[in-house]
Order: sequence, then structure tokens, then C-alpha cells
Amino acid sequence: MQNPMGARVSSEQALDLLKNADTAELMSLADGVRRAKYGLDVFYVHSLNLNPTNVCENQCGLCAFWREEGSEKAYTLSPAQIRDRLEQLHEVEKRRAYILKTIEEQGKLNPELKKSLKEAETMAALEDLYLPYKPKRRTRATVAREKGLEPLAKLIYDQKDMNLEELAGKFINPEKEVQDVEEALQGARDIMAEWIAEDVRVRDMLRNLFYREGILSCKNIKGKEMEGIKYKDYFDFSEPVKKVPSHRLLAMRRGEKESFLSIDIQPDEGTALRGMEKLLITARNSSAEQVETAIQDGYKRLLKPSMETEIRMQTKKEADIEAITVFVANLRQLLLAPSSLGCKEGQKCPSSHDGREGRACWKASG
Ligand code: SF4
Repeated sequence: MQNPMGARVSSEQALDLLKNADTAELMSLADGVRRAKYGLDVFYVHSLNLNPTNVCENQCGLCAFWREEGSEKAYTLSPAQIRDRLEQLHEVEKRRAYILKTIEEQGKLNPELKKSLKEAETMAALEDLYLPYKPKRRTRATVAREKGLEPLAKLIYDQKDMNLEELAGKFINPEKEVQDVEEALQGARDIMAEWIAEDVRVRDMLRNLFYREGILSCKNIKGKEMEGIKYKDYFDFSEPVKKVPSHRLLAMRRGEKESFLSIDIQPDEGTALRGMEKLLITARNSSAEQVETAIQDGYKRLLKPSMETEIRMQTKKEADIEAITVFVANLRQLLLAPSSLGCKEGQKCPSSHDGREGRACWKASG
């Protein structure tokens, strides 16, 4: 511990620190070393380790990761979960390489975007970044761009004070089917709605909101009440999406697939719109009012369906994993249970091919 600040500690000193140093003292020493070397720069470790369990007996004072076995937040991944996670990571890497290559081929890969793409940890984060560069079918925004309305959209999106009527009037062009000011403004709003739907900050905020506060509502399809009677529990059902147990979710999805039920997932619309306005509205003027209208359209027409699809896929995946885990646990219990053939200790096992005695099989596995 007497090591001068910033010098490398020996193995003995490190062990001594680990065993004897007071946690606060150790943290302050480490902070001193950082400041001596890097000033006020702070570094974070980006860990992509699989961490099959967080149950650890060492319980080091500095560690915020370990949990006691059996505690609420303790987890231990099964081999199947580890395999799935590895496959997921592999998929993310494959997709990252494809997206980097595609944007580079478009000539639009700037250093900042490259850095963000390399740092994206999840498939959702990667897809959000890729969205503006993804080849699209013809959308309302594409049509508005073809009518030459993108410069108008950019000016409005800046939310500066200006005479909107006069500005939009300059974009009237009957040859391109922009007949009046309202048509020019509508086209600009269509373009802004697409920008909003592709904004990474907006998508991130909404994704969290959908997961945290989303409500899953399920209704029956009118006229199919008798045919779909086995799903009657879900004819008028709603529950926070994060609380729906896997068996219930899978049952509702089956009912939807068989066309007896329809499912909707969304948080309170007002909360979602207010969150978006907080991120995007920077002024109080007629341009900001146009942006507000574009926010409402972008949410209802583009973002809500996109977030709902994402959360449906994610919850389905989680429900499948849970169902398989429960199935495996039940099967294991069944297989390890004493044989129902009535075998007894000391007798030859009726299904044994190697002359083992009764109960040797389940005893050995247990
Ligand atoms: S997981 Fe945490 S508690 Fe366990 S050995 Fe590592 S640092 Fe220490």
C-alpha cells in the first residue's frame, strides 16, 4: 500500500490490498492513479462476457455483480440459454458487418456513424442506426421528396420564427402536384414524420416506455365468440405487458393466430407523445406546431406499429424460453422419479440390459 501513486503494484502488494485495504481507501487510491495518468477522463469497461451466473462465494467488497444463491436477482444460465446467447451475439456481429458494408457502399459511412455502429450492443440498437440508410419501399415521405419538399421540411424542423405561409407558398408547383400551401405543408410533415420515426433517441425512449409501461389488451373478434369459446378468458383482457406470464401470452397469441382474438400493446399515448415532444420541440412558434403534428402522425402511423412488433417478438422469444425451461424441469423430475414399474432394491431392473439392480438407474442419475 505504500506504493507511490501511479507506480505499478507488485503481485504481493495487490494481494495485500485485496485482503486488507478498506474499500473506500482502495477506491480513493485507484482514483488517484487514474487522475495521475488521465486527468479527469473517465473510462468504462464494455463487457461482452457471457457471465453464466452471478452467484459468487467470494463476495468482494468492490463488486456490484455478485448475488447470494437463492436471492431474488441471482441467476444461473442453463447450457441451452448459453447456447442461445452465443447464437444471438453471433447474429448481432453478422448483422453489424453487413450494415457497415452496406452503408459504406452507399458512400455515407462517416466516422461518427461507424463508431456508433461498432459500439451498438443489441440488434435493436443496430437496426435503429441502420434505419435511415435501409432501402425503403415508396413511402409518403418519398413521394413528398419527389415533389421537392425536403428543403421546406428542413426549414420547419429547425423551428425558427418565420412566416410559414409565405415560405410554403414558394414550394407550390402544380406540375409536381403541389397545388397550395396546405399540400406543401402536408408533404413537409410527411418527411418530418419519417425523420422522427428514424431518430435513435426517440426510438430508444419509446422502446423503454413500451417495455416499462406498455399495456397488453386482448379482445375477441366480433361474431366469432362461439367458435373461439376456449379463449373466453381473453375476450376482454388487459394487463401490463411486463407482468403477463408466458403461458398466458402464448395462449393469447394462439387465439390471435386462429383469428379469434386481437392483441394490442401500447403505453399511454399521452405519455409517449409528451416524451417525444420533450426530445424534439425546441421553440414555441408556428413551425414547432407543424413539428408537433408530425410527431403525432409519426407516432401513430410509424412508431407505434414498429415498437409493438418489436415487443411482440421479444416477449414471444422470452415466453418460448420460459416454456422450454419449465418443460425441461418437469421432464427431468419425471425421469428422475422412482420407476412406476414397482421395481425394488435388490431385484433385477425390468428394463435393464446390463444386469443392474432395480432403482440403480434413477439412483445413479439422481
Ligand atoms: S464476481 Fe465479484 S465477488 Fe465474485 S470474484 Fe469476481 S469480483 Fe469478486
